[in-house]
Amino acid sequence: MQMQTQTSSSVVERYRAKTPKSAALYERARLAFPSGLTHDSRVLDPYPLFVERAAGPRKWCVDGHEYVDYFGGHGALLLGHCAPEVVAAVQRQAARGTHFGSAHELELRWAELIQRLVPGAQRVRFTASGTEATHLALRLARAFTGKDKVVRFLGHFHGWHDHVAAGSNSHYDGARPVGVLPDIVQATILMPTDDVQPTVSLLEARGDIAAVIVEPSGASWGQVPLPPGFLRALRDATARRGVILIFDEVITGFRFAPGGAQQAFGITADLCTLAKVVAGGLPGGALAGRRDIMEGLDFAATKAAGRERIAHQGTYNANPLTAAAGIAMLEQVATSDACERASDAAARLRAGMNDVLVREGVPWAVYGEYSLFHVFTNPNGLPIDARRFDPLALGFDGLKRSKSTALANQLRLAMLIAGVDIMGAPGGTVSAIHGEREIEQTVTAFREAVRLIAADGGIRDKSEHPHHPRPSADPSS
Ligand code: PMP
Repeated sequence: MQMQTQTSSSVVERYRAKTPKSAALYERARLAFPSGLTHDSRVLDPYPLFVERAAGPRKWCVDGHEYVDYFGGHGALLLGHCAPEVVAAVQRQAARGTHFGSAHELELRWAELIQRLVPGAQRVRFTASGTEATHLALRLARAFTGKDKVVRFLGHFHGWHDHVAAGSNSHYDGARPVGVLPDIVQATILMPTDDVQPTVSLLEARGDIAAVIVEPSGASWGQVPLPPGFLRALRDATARRGVILIFDEVITGFRFAPGGAQQAFGITADLCTLAKVVAGGLPGGALAGRRDIMEGLDFAATKAAGRERIAHQGTYNANPLTAAAGIAMLEQVATSDACERASDAAARLRAGMNDVLVREGVPWAVYGEYSLFHVFTNPNGLPIDARRFDPLALGFDGLKRSKSTALANQLRLAMLIAGVDIMGAPGGTVSAIHGEREIEQTVTAFREAVRLIAADGGIRDKSEHPHHPRPSADPSS
């Protein structure tokens, strides 16, 4: 396909030998979809894996091979695939009606669970995706403050709508992404995250800022972590200046803690956007937060205040099927130790993978927080010791801007050959149902993968120079 990668031939050959049915389906897919794909993050050279079914922490490709899965439905599947509670709720609801075009009790129970779990969720509005939730959050913030500008952070991903496109993927310079209106790009102020002070100063200096939106994990679910104190300083500065602070909890929500990053870090934003886990693995999202801001959607409140109301529709908002899945998921989050189990499993996985790197003498590192992991593949051959890796020392340029998509692609292929599906960042999300067996299997697969890549000359230490050139599109999850 079109990616300009330099994936080594023996890895590709083995992948091709293992997955001929995926190759055949991909030939058809190329005639149906641009790049043969339905989501940028599923890009894989020479072709993506076609999957037939999934269960628990595993999935099976069309050629019948089994994989431990860390794609996790792009992070939606905190309980793994086909969690019995979710399956039962969805089956029950499918037979009772998937869309009433009416109010229904399930939407209420779903919202009440969010209110119970998520700090500051005084009011909730459901959407059909995380992209829609961030779009709505920004419009509400602008309407509430009467101001236009939005502060975002370099590489932070908030979906694909126009207001969050610049600086979040492809080129990280904040320049206008093709197809986006220049005025919309100019309404965003893009800030770095290595130090919070420039943002605090900006907030102090300017009076035209409506909102600050941030991934509380750091860019791309923690690929570029935030320095300690960053979120607290943002909270303080925005509160002082009457600027709306939006936590984008599409990934962190119900994952970092039952109440998301807000609970985990003890910081309450003004608004938070939710998707993925909130919808139990079905399509859906939500915006939750301060009542006075959310009243921008309220017929009576806006009328009483003499304000124009924000119109918000969406055929699939709070549809009964998603509501049923969301309730089943959030009940598990609320009543079990699912978040903790997933985080513990991820910590053991990161440790096991780092152990492999140390033993194999590979200057890479595996890092991440809670139930997430990222693999730093060290494209510039820095002297890295996985046991003492500090991602903060590398910052955005070292961790994300200079990332090698070719090496990430090669690692994904090598892991698939060894029976594990990771995400392209490269990294993954761990579920509450990933147990010792999956961790052991993954660590073994990782050892095989790095050996395979090393044998192909894909691992370089500081004495050599990589020739994987193209830091480019990181389409997030
Ligand atoms: N915000 C963040 C932090 C995300 O990771 C994503 C999706 N990966 C989105 C927003 C967009 O969500 P969706 O894909 O549901 O539109």
